[in-house]
Amino acid sequence: MPELKINSTYGVIVIKNLKPVYVDDSYAQIFGYASAQELLDGIDTFFDLIPEEYHQDVRDNYYQQSSGRMVPRGRTFKNIDRYGRIFTVLSVDHVIEWEGEPALQVTILDLSFLEDAHIQLTENKEKYKQLVTTSGQGIIIHKDFKPLMVNQAWVDLMEAPSISYVLEQANLMDFIPEKERQQVRQRYQDVISEKVQGSHNIVENVSFDGTKRYFNIYDNRIEWDGEPAIQAVIEDVTEKVELEQELKRLSVTDALTQVANRHRLDQLLKEEADRFQRYHQPFSVILIDLDHFKSINDNWGHHVGDKTLIQVAKAMTDTIRKPDNLGRWGGEEFLIICPNTELEGAMQLAEKIRLAIASQEIDKQFQVTASLGVATIGGESISQLLMRADKALYEAKSSGRNKVAASQ
Ligand code: GH3
Ligand code: MG
Ligand code: MG
Repeated sequence: MPELKINSTYGVIVIKNLKPVYVDDSYAQIFGYASAQELLDGIDTFFDLIPEEYHQDVRDNYYQQSSGRMVPRGRTFKNIDRYGRIFTVLSVDHVIEWEGEPALQVTILDLSFLEDAHIQLTENKEKYKQLVTTSGQGIIIHKDFKPLMVNQAWVDLMEAPSISYVLEQANLMDFIPEKERQQVRQRYQDVISEKVQGSHNIVENVSFDGTKRYFNIYDNRIEWDGEPAIQAVIEDVTEKVELEQELKRLSVTDALTQVANRHRLDQLLKEEADRFQRYHQPFSVILIDLDHFKSINDNWGHHVGDKTLIQVAKAMTDTIRKPDNLGRWGGEEFLIICPNTELEGAMQLAEKIRLAIASQEIDKQFQVTASLGVATIGGESISQLLMRADKALYEAKSSGRNKVAASQ
């Protein structure tokens, strides 16, 4: 059995007809008097030591016990000291004989320390609640994603109807997209098991109104009603994340045609070369150069030249297969990287591309053709591979344009 550590004073009082006839010093001190005598001089009846609302109870108790109708037992009572402080005591009553008549000996144990601890706990919790409620940051407390408390700022950030609506929700996981759940659950376990001390992560959430938002979520383990729970503070970083995503997209996209830019093509070529080295997975490249493009600019103007590039890029995008990557290599030249593709497959795709371009009608006025050079990796460097594709392209040009040529 666990040891109950009670380090508190006890005091004794004897009451007869609800008047104190004897009291010891420690009883007097519990009630704020310097000595027993001071207490006896200071009060008229036993009731002066008890808050008003308990008077009837004490009276009944007294008569029932002193008449023997009730077996004395330990009870907790609220008492009041001379300064008005209300505190709890454990009181054990005995019926004794005092000067030939029955009287009640009351032994009390001061339990203020329990009360103080409870008050402290309640006050702390109240203070904490106040802090959370008035915080401008969105805060939610949850256990296993079941919300226990939430503030208005969180409700506003998540476009939720109300605090009570959120508290009725069984599971906050419903607001996290499927693809993020595994990670979010893992982080919860890490924080709750104290494997990590607090953490913050950017998580995509689906708000109550169905819109997607990004939140930087600070998770901390706290005690809630004596059990571990998570306090999550959220900060809306949607604009920041979307800006980052847009900047990232712009850094790899050709501004005119919206296909990958040269920088992105370089990255993709490196990745393919790596795969070839590691797993011997072949890949092919198709270099595309529009025929007599200069004359399009000269005849129709630079603006129509731009339009042509956009339309041709679109036609090629619609023709390639999903794993293929199309990018603008520069000027009126494009490159397609075909992963896991041997020369024959690449030649077939190149032919489709040639036809797709030739079938375009630009501004309902003219058509455009392209020459294509195809090469498949054979263990050389990327620049050597591209040189071979360029050579094949030159052959396609010199053999009359609107042609596909392969580098053997
Ligand atoms: P070839 O059949 O031999 O390839 O002839 P070409 O006229 O296409 O060859 P050349 O490389 O001499 O000309 C390419 C032209 O493409 C020159 C340049 O003004 C034009 N050009 C390059 N980039 C752009 C662009 O972004 N917009 C427009 N409108 N024209 C561009
Ligand atoms: Mg050119
Ligand atoms: Mg050209």
